[in-house]
Amino acid sequence: MSEYDDGNNDSGGSGGSIIGTIISILILAAIWPYLMAIVGLYIAYLAAIAILEWMAQNPLSVVFILLGIFCIYAIFHYRLIPKTWRWMIALLKPKAVEVHLSQYAVNSELPDLASRKFIPSTNLYCYWCTKKLGIQAWEKNGKYYCDECKARQLTNA
Ligand SMILES: [Zn+2]
Repeated sequence: MSEYDDGNNDSGGSGGSIIGTIISILILAAIWPYLMAIVGLYIAYLAAIAILEWMAQNPLSVVFILLGIFCIYAIFHYRLIPKTWRWMIALLKPKAVEVHLSQYAVNSELPDLASRKFIPSTNLYCYWCTKKLGIQAWEKNGKYYCDECKARQLTNA
């Protein structure tokens, strides 16, 4: 008798205990997504509060993080990595681009090494080894050298 009375007291005026349980389960199932959304919003709110508090305590860190994010964005947005590579390569060999052979021909008072100007096409012979000069021939003081003799001259000097 006491168990029956307890069940009656719990259900109150809403009907039988089993039906009440089923209805409450159905209601819970119906509002479950909303409950989850509310819990999620609450967690997001707590996280936002925590982040804001941390930002208020560490303003310098916030500035650095923002700068870092901006740098990463700029690197990917303006494609700075390939541009930097091109810039560095251009820095490493600028002379190969800028030097012109005509400079040596016009300016004959350059130092010794620069005065050995390149002869583009010739019918001459090497001053040292009398080899017929081909595409790679060099001139110094009116004498012509092949590429090998010029290299030997440079290494001896
Ligand atoms: Zn030679």
